[in-house]
Amino acid sequence: MNCIICRQAEFVDGFTSIPFERGEYKLMVNHVPALVCPNCGEAIVDEDVATHLLSIAENIISEGIFEDIRDYSK
Ligand SMILES: [Zn+2]
Repeated sequence: MNCIICRQAEFVDGFTSIPFERGEYKLMVNHVPALVCPNCGEAIVDEDVATHLLSIAENIISEGIFEDIRDYSK
């Protein structure tokens, strides 16, 4: 599949970092499996991955943590 942003390259399997922000709450999740554009860096995650990311974010919110950096696998 060609990149939807730059249309200059095809997506390849890789990893990306996904930031979340909700009010004062900030989270960065690293090593998220994604399709990544080698030209512009645009990344797409599939639905299962997005769902898991949300559950990571909700767990951290429920712990009362407002700023954190996590690894996707943990
Ligand atoms: Zn691109």
